[in-house]
Amino acid sequence: KIVITDCSWGSYDVEKQHLPKDAEVVCTQILTEEEVIETCKGAVATLSEYAPFTRRVLEQLPDLKIIANSAMGVDNIDLDAAKELGIAVTNVPDYCFDEVAEHAMALILSTLRNIPGYNEKVRKEKKWDFADAPKLYRINGMTMGLIGCGRIPRKAAVMAKGFGMKLVGYDPYLPKEVAEEFGIEMMPMERLAEVSDVILSHVPLMPSTEKMVGKNLFDHVKKQPIFVNTSRGGTVDHDALCDALESGAVRAAALDVVDEEPANFASRIFKYDNVIFTPHAAFYSETALEEVRRRSAENVTHFLAG
Ligand code: NAD
Repeated sequence: KIVITDCSWGSYDVEKQHLPKDAEVVCTQILTEEEVIETCKGAVATLSEYAPFTRRVLEQLPDLKIIANSAMGVDNIDLDAAKELGIAVTNVPDYCFDEVAEHAMALILSTLRNIPGYNEKVRKEKKWDFADAPKLYRINGMTMGLIGCGRIPRKAAVMAKGFGMKLVGYDPYLPKEVAEEFGIEMMPMERLAEVSDVILSHVPLMPSTEKMVGKNLFDHVKKQPIFVNTSRGGTVDHDALCDALESGAVRAAALDVVDEEPANFASRIFKYDNVIFTPHAAFYSETALEEVRRRSAENVTHFLAG
């Protein structure tokens, strides 16, 4: 018995193709601890995303051998308890790297070319006037600053290079050889602020990175850069960003993530016309969803096969 615990798409066609042929597959959507205990009784494996596997739940599922999360993270699972009870946990850490990098570049290009602004003028005001817009500049030759130079921003960096952008970065933990391989000139955050026309912030959210991008960055910008965040809203001090937008130090921003999600539309960041938003959508594509479902099913099959 294998339970798909977060079957929000309603069918399990993808999973079924990649799970053991003789498995009894239960496809459901369960959210409470009680529901998980009840539904997963007797199951050897689950494919999950949000269903809570707390210690209490795990202790009541003696047949369970593997929780294959169909996600990047594993924060729905008590990992210590799983380890103690001998239950394997897998995830699919990289299924949407392409999408997030592509989305970051889409936000950068949309902002630099004023695509949402022009579209609104044409559609809502029926104005066909290129000059009725913020001043635009050539992207070829601009400098892009990467705060956090992990796998996703490095993919964006390769794309940005194709547009003729120069790359600089701030990431105290990035090996020198990796920076060299990607042609990223590493420097302190203040210096990055001074030289960048585009700043892509991509640090993961951890206690040490909470609100780590704030006045320390925005107070040093010199070229009225645009600021883009596709990582986690909690890494950016939104008040400091709003101040920088208000003073004009930052020309515009593009945010896929904000500090409160689902969004609180009363918050200050939503007051500025020169900020474009997408609703934490960077990871999403049908290709990515198919991949995460297929690979978590494969994780179960490979594990059960030893
Ligand atoms: P990664 O793990 O490959 O790299 C993280 C980088 O951040 C590392 O190079 C690390 O050295 C650096 N870093 C850590 N602390 C730092 C600090 N204090 N200052 C500067 N750099 C620091 O991460 P990645 O794959 O590039 O990005 C992962 C993040 O992307 C996730 O944590 C998640 O927040 C975000 N994400 C967003 C979406 C979305 O839909 N918007 C989807 C998937 C992932």
